[in-house]
Amino acid sequence: MRVVRNFLLVLVAIIIIGSIGFSLWLRDRYVVPILTYHHVGVPSCKWRLNTVSEKSFDYQMNFIKRHGFQVISFDSLVRGIKEGHQFSRNTVVIQFDDGYEDNYKYAFPILKKYGFPAMIFLISDIINSPGFLTWDEMKEMEKYDILAGAHTRRHPYLPELDLMRAQDEIVGSKKVIEDHLGHSIDYFAYPTGGFTKEVKGLVQKAGYKAAVTTNRGKNKFNMDLYEIKRIHMNNTDDQYSGIVLWFKLSGYYNLFRHSRKCGVSQHKGFYE
Ligand SMILES: [Zn+2]
Repeated sequence: MRVVRNFLLVLVAIIIIGSIGFSLWLRDRYVVPILTYHHVGVPSCKWRLNTVSEKSFDYQMNFIKRHGFQVISFDSLVRGIKEGHQFSRNTVVIQFDDGYEDNYKYAFPILKKYGFPAMIFLISDIINSPGFLTWDEMKEMEKYDILAGAHTRRHPYLPELDLMRAQDEIVGSKKVIEDHLGHSIDYFAYPTGGFTKEVKGLVQKAGYKAAVTTNRGKNKFNMDLYEIKRIHMNNTDDQYSGIVLWFKLSGYYNLFRHSRKCGVSQHKGFYE
């Protein structure tokens, strides 16, 4: 009897110590999730993997609101990281890449409805082309805290360019967007998430305060402001009663996903 009791006591102690250890281990690995969208609207065959339907986007935003998540601007996130701020476990950031016209048509009314800030990374020389946002649309969205960032001039895969051309893409897009919107553009997104040490250096030198990638690079916990990782969102995230969505919003998604090498050409399409 005594042996059983001692065994149970040891077991309980192991479980308690293990749980405390695990939660301490997890505490230092929390990363504010940055949800990244491309198209919002009707999924076409071509852009199926990069499109979230209007209904699904509304569901995802409603999920965030309903479960008490706090959506903060990317600028607040970067400032917080710099200051060593401990973000509460219900924080989230929303971003869009490429600046598609459907962002204004479908995503903007939904973001406005929930009062969520966001950032849209624009391909500066393609703005105002068919299928993309106009400068006026971007200006209108900026009044609602949906701000512009830069995503190069023509969306090349930067690790494949010589440094002069890469610099033109990085510096040029900043200038074009600043001239049209009349304020400083502080954040940059690497097309397809691709960067090298040299590309990263050019982004820093151009005066950006931070840059975002996809799941590339070694830095899992977003302590390096020039290779901040983001989470690709898609149409199927709200299936299975939102379990995938919970996981993506948990702050521990980066911990369990595979990282791609940052300089290797793995891009499949121009506007990824
Ligand atoms: Zn892109």
